[in-house]
Amino acid sequence: MRHLFFDLDRTLWHHERNHEVFFNQLHSEMGWGGGPAEWARTYLAINDRLWDHIQEHNLGVDYVRARRFPLLFREMGLEYPAAREAAALGARCESLLKERLPDLGMGYDGVGEAFQTLRQRGFRLHILTNGVELPQRRKIAALGLEPYVDVVMTSDVAGCYKPAPGIFAAALKAAGVSAPSSWMVGDSVLRDVLGGQGVGMRTAWFRAEDALPPDAVAQPDFEFGDWRAFPDLLESALRGH
Ligand SMILES: [Mg+2]
Repeated sequence: MRHLFFDLDRTLWHHERNHEVFFNQLHSEMGWGGGPAEWARTYLAINDRLWDHIQEHNLGVDYVRARRFPLLFREMGLEYPAAREAAALGARCESLLKERLPDLGMGYDGVGEAFQTLRQRGFRLHILTNGVELPQRRKIAALGLEPYVDVVMTSDVAGCYKPAPGIFAAALKAAGVSAPSSWMVGDSVLRDVLGGQGVGMRTAWFRAEDALPPDAVAQPDFEFGDWRAFPDLLESALRGH
């Protein structure tokens, strides 16, 4: 039995598109100036920076949640007479984001069909993601992938972030499988490809057309940019081994 572990954000769940949808709505409700796309882009850059920091230093997500909106307001030039006003609006935006964002279900083209095909071919499918347990599970449900997925392992539950070996070990243990018969599939060379290789898994690198620049250099077993091609590429990589 072959086991596949998939990253979630920017691999299955379309991070940028879902944030655009959320920010379109938030921007019009708040009556902010500028375009919503610029707010979303600026937010994502700040959020990515803060996430890099907590992943590097193994800090909790509260660090990110306390800072990302106040930093966004500052960068977008919103003026407040008192710092506590920015903090209050930040908290309001945080709670709207928590309420709405994880239920948005824009995925990369072909993800649902690929999961269906892989299950039909006898693979066991799992999610291995840096993120908070409940929102990550809501994203999986919003994508319609819940029926195909067995184990969900988050950094929240594991207590460490990919590429730390501990989170991979926790996921493999939960699935009851050894590393050599498992694959890690994801968009991050650092966290998914090098992380998976570090514990002896085989790896596939998802490189979408609109992907971020690579965050490290490594040699995965194969790379792909279209989910519709993934099941056959995987089969041929397995045959060639
Ligand atoms: Mg990712």
